[in-house]
Amino acid sequence: MGSGNHVAVARALMAWFRRSARRMDWRETDDPYRIWVSEIMLQQTRVSTVTPYYRRFLAAFPDVEALARASLGAVLKRWEGLGYYSRARNLHKAAGILRERHACLIPSSVDALMALPGVGRSTAGAIAAIAFRQDVPILDANVKRVVARLHAVREDVRRASVERTLWEHSRRTILPGKGRETALAMMDLGSSVCTPRAPDCPACPLAKWCEARPLGIQESIPRRPAKKTLPHRDRAVAVIRNRQGKILVRRRSESGLLGGLWELPGSGKTAGETLTGALARELREGFGIDVEVDETFAALRHGYSHFRVTLHAYRCRKTKGKVRSSREWKWATPAELEDLAMPRADRKILEQVKINLHEKGISK
Ligand code: SF4
Repeated sequence: MGSGNHVAVARALMAWFRRSARRMDWRETDDPYRIWVSEIMLQQTRVSTVTPYYRRFLAAFPDVEALARASLGAVLKRWEGLGYYSRARNLHKAAGILRERHACLIPSSVDALMALPGVGRSTAGAIAAIAFRQDVPILDANVKRVVARLHAVREDVRRASVERTLWEHSRRTILPGKGRETALAMMDLGSSVCTPRAPDCPACPLAKWCEARPLGIQESIPRRPAKKTLPHRDRAVAVIRNRQGKILVRRRSESGLLGGLWELPGSGKTAGETLTGALARELREGFGIDVEVDETFAALRHGYSHFRVTLHAYRCRKTKGKVRSSREWKWATPAELEDLAMPRADRKILEQVKINLHEKGISK
């Protein structure tokens, strides 16, 4: 594509954006903090899901100072259900850094933004372009797809050399002074017209210049890696109530999957173990208590990015030992459980417990 065409593409994109720009909460503001939060939430989640979370999050943490002051638990609680919790942990950590080193101000340069936890080059570009109106490119999944199709890039877009080319293509779609509008327009085009499957080419403002469309190869770009079958695990979790009707929960370590969230104690089984045997072992080794494992009352399937899991929930009764209170676990009342950030699957199991108790006429 010649440079004249790049200008024509950019102009057509701007004209389309003026007609079709979508309204979103975070587009009604110039506040870099709000734009940063929205960009992090949008990293792995669609707009319609993000919107209510975005509103609740900002109501609780309206600025950097409030976010930095909050406990990680409070931040995770506002994130509960949105998934990919490392995003929330990074936001919280970054807020601390901003308070310490940037007087609670969001930096405007791409490099300084990229120094914050959880902010990659595309997110940094989006914040710099949208909040600070800089003419810098972005290359999120939507934009990557649009430029790869526009230029009929058939190679694997995850290769560093191919990615460099795509960044350059993205940069060349920016008209001087239009960095913000270009970023938003490309995001919109990718999510509403040049969609992963069945792109609406007849409605595309860039169709005239698209190199993939006349070849009929647009749907096979970007090349998708062969689908791997995700491994499946079974995990037993315990619902143990003490005499006061409180339920035993523990806090996951802050690093790793679901880090910092509270969960029902549980375990996967090792070779030669049964699920109930594994659960009894875990409670003995991890909590110093012996339990009688009662019947299973719920089985819940859940998918993560790298594996699938079925949680088998067992009612357990403590027969020996005393669990001491510490930061890592506690006996929690139903009201306290509501206030803890928990993975979606554990929350569903607790809802099932509530329903069962209700059916049996027990309100605690
Ligand atoms: S013409 Fe089709 S494939 Fe090409 S950029 Fe537009 S929507 Fe995407």
